[in-house]
Amino acid sequence: MIAVPPYVQALLAALGDAGFAAYPVGGCVRDSLMGRAPADWDLCTAAAPEQTETALAGYRFVETGLKHGTVTVLTGDGPVEITTFRTDGVYLDHRRPAHVTFVPSLREDLARRDFTVNAMALGPDGQVVDPFGGQADLAAGIIRCVGDPDRRFGEDALRILRALRFAAKLDFTIDPATAASAVQNRALLDDIARERVFAELKGLLTGPGAGRVLRDYAPVIFQMIPELAAGEGFDQRNPHHIHDIWTHSTMAVDAAPPETVLRLTMLLHDVGKPTCFFTDEKGVGHFYGHGERGAEMADGILHRLRCDNDTRERVCLLIQNHDICPPQTPRAMRRLLAKVGEDGVRQLIACWRADCADRVDAILATDTPWGTLIGTAERILAELLAGPAPCFSVKSLAVNGRDIMALGVPEGPQVGRVLGALFDAVTDGEVPNEKAALLEMALVISRKMD
Ligand code: ATP
Ligand code: MG
Repeated sequence: MIAVPPYVQALLAALGDAGFAAYPVGGCVRDSLMGRAPADWDLCTAAAPEQTETALAGYRFVETGLKHGTVTVLTGDGPVEITTFRTDGVYLDHRRPAHVTFVPSLREDLARRDFTVNAMALGPDGQVVDPFGGQADLAAGIIRCVGDPDRRFGEDALRILRALRFAAKLDFTIDPATAASAVQNRALLDDIARERVFAELKGLLTGPGAGRVLRDYAPVIFQMIPELAAGEGFDQRNPHHIHDIWTHSTMAVDAAPPETVLRLTMLLHDVGKPTCFFTDEKGVGHFYGHGERGAEMADGILHRLRCDNDTRERVCLLIQNHDICPPQTPRAMRRLLAKVGEDGVRQLIACWRADCADRVDAILATDTPWGTLIGTAERILAELLAGPAPCFSVKSLAVNGRDIMALGVPEGPQVGRVLGALFDAVTDGEVPNEKAALLEMALVISRKMD
């Protein structure tokens, strides 16, 4: 029996008292049946939006979805979307319906929903309303369109990506007919707003089934990011790499912690490789500069996908540095910290680990295993952070601008130059981050500048 939280029960009861059927529907029913806590509770109802608002007098509403029959009710326990039973009218451009039609029956409302596992409602006595076999598909771990897949993807091409996203997130497979149709209809994705495409891509990447879905639906992924296609089947001709670039990238995605930045980084980290490829006189493949090149390409890709700036900049920074050797000395680590910050170094370590998950160094013993190099870098980082007065930016120097001016340096750009020089010296281990030592050095530096 699904436990409906009291704040949702209160809404159902108020609508019921006003004479309107109302049901929890979609994701909350699916998640509850899987034994997961739903992220949010959506309701559907026979009440028209204004009837919903009347029945729920006393609540506050957000009316942004009114055109589609959705009223968002603000409860003390969070917002609840309540949508009038509807079918979708004619679809334009494989996107959104031109208009929606309110209908009297729950069944018709369920029929317009995308997948059988999302097309279930919860009746008042706790029974699951499931006209399309959603419970059976849930038990078998299958994503299947409600109705004919070609028609459903033709109506709204975003559903192609939603199918992949749910398959990755729930670690489900996609029913063969739905899967074939998703691949077949992939060009329709070109009509979908990039923001919506990117939102689904992020959901896909952070799911436990991400790598498998990326591999199984590569043509759909390449439709969104054509730059990745060159890596498919690309023989790296290098003893470290047993997989082609694309397969390796999908495995690296799985090996990274399920965070958007890290998973996007691993998806795109080798996108620059095919254009940087050359073989040496022994026929071994190399990719010099592919970090830099990949960061440039990723920047273009993420701009196109309307990725937010913070995520884009961070992903590009990580890609740019993903193929440097993990610092093996405190001095090298301090330089890296100055460049990418403490969070950046931690993320790079996660990327290095993910990147070597399918490498064979240890087996071939041709080189110091990457795992050892990364472990050393991690140890050095921990030691530096635990050490006295860690200093990885000008701000954390033991002296500030006022101290420098007190030495007689005039206010202005020269103060910044002295601080910068001190920071470089601390980074290189030439001077400890201690006030007395730094002031002494500042005096020498400022005299030289005069
Ligand atoms: P999540 O946990 O990711 O939010 P969800 O199932 O709640 O999963 P939503 O995108 O919030 O997904 O959509 C809520 C419900 O609306 C879905 O369960 C589905 O029934 C329906 N739905 C959403 N988008 C579509 C669509 N593009 N086509 C058809 N039905 C859709
Ligand atoms: Mg939802």
